[in-house]
Amino acid sequence: MAANCIFCKIIKGDIPSMKVFESDKTLAFLDINPLSYGHTLIIPKHHGAKLTDIPEEHLTELLPIASRIAKASGAADYNILQNNGRLAHQEVDHVHFHMIPKPNEKEGLGIQWPQQ
Ligand code: AMP
Repeated sequence: MAANCIFCKIIKGDIPSMKVFESDKTLAFLDINPLSYGHTLIIPKHHGAKLTDIPEEHLTELLPIASRIAKASGAADYNILQNNGRLAHQEVDHVHFHMIPKPNEKEGLGIQWPQQ
């Protein structure tokens, strides 16, 4: 844990978040400034700014969880993104994967609402 890290504060529960998944190693929550409906961040609970700062055993769940959340979103198309450093547009210095659903213009996210 890093005292001044906003995502460590979310892990500790000191800052509220909309949690999507939690295990002993991993947390996923909705992005506060979503690029699309369902934009989710998947983070290791182990603090490190960049992917290369995190011991591999804390990285193993991240992509499987991102995949599960992408499936659950119902979106056929989606981005999985991970930025490292300012030149790569990283703003929060705690490793995170973005899962950004890409709604189809005609069919939205593919979620089937009950017929009226
Ligand atoms: P990046 O540019 O890859 O570092 O992305 C950081 C992401 O963290 C941005 O999409 C922000 O909207 C998101 N973010 C920052 N603060 C919070 C927060 N308190 N809760 C949820 N998402 C956040």
